[in-house]
Amino acid sequence: MEGQRPRFGSLAQGFHFGLVILALDQAALGGHRYAALSRVTPTGGHAVVASSARVLGLRSGVTIGVSPVSRSACMSAKKKPAKAKRSSRARGPRCGLCGKSTKLTKTECCGNWVCDDEHKYIMFSYARNSCRRNHRRYTLCAYHHVEGHPGDWKDCPKCRKSFETEMYVWYGTNQYNFEKLPNPPEYEPTHCADCGQVIRLGEDGHSEQGENYWCQKCSARRMRDGQ
Ligand SMILES: [Zn+2]
Ligand SMILES: [Zn+2]
Ligand SMILES: [Zn+2]
Ligand SMILES: [Zn+2]
Repeated sequence: MEGQRPRFGSLAQGFHFGLVILALDQAALGGHRYAALSRVTPTGGHAVVASSARVLGLRSGVTIGVSPVSRSACMSAKKKPAKAKRSSRARGPRCGLCGKSTKLTKTECCGNWVCDDEHKYIMFSYARNSCRRNHRRYTLCAYHHVEGHPGDWKDCPKCRKSFETEMYVWYGTNQYNFEKLPNPPEYEPTHCADCGQVIRLGEDGHSEQGENYWCQKCSARRMRDGQ
């Protein structure tokens, strides 16, 4: 049973002999660490016998109303805990945007796990290297929250009116969203007023003035020409 101890060592230690509790499971549920004890059933399967706060209040050596299994059954099931441990790691919290599992925090707008990485952002760089900042700056979810709109951002008329359609769709469907806008409205692509090239407003560098947009190249040329 050695291999399974480290995570909840103090809890697990009491359960050496013929006892029941072999695997400790952990998952993120509603932001709280959630623990469950499971036992190995005589057939080798796992059964959850206690969970959450009850588990954390347990002292080692306490059995919790489960019939003891024989030591040999315990030993023969030795491989199961390792398996449970692996899957419990996979179920721990991860950044909903990039999948990393270290240094996480929760978004204020929607309570999702996200990298706590705003320190990586360099002022005025507009780099998109921070998961937290990307969600905060480039999504309707965050905008809706900051503006204090009522209801859900996905059917919020105020959000819809706040942006031109292309940007509304981009804010609602880009990769910085945990949940994307269903049935985004259609829009005509934006073209550069000089060369006609399509500009993806959310992704491509561009300049704008009144109703007009210019691609990066034409913007640079206009700047040189003092326009
Ligand atoms: Zn991330
Ligand atoms: Zn959000
Ligand atoms: Zn809104
Ligand atoms: Zn152009």
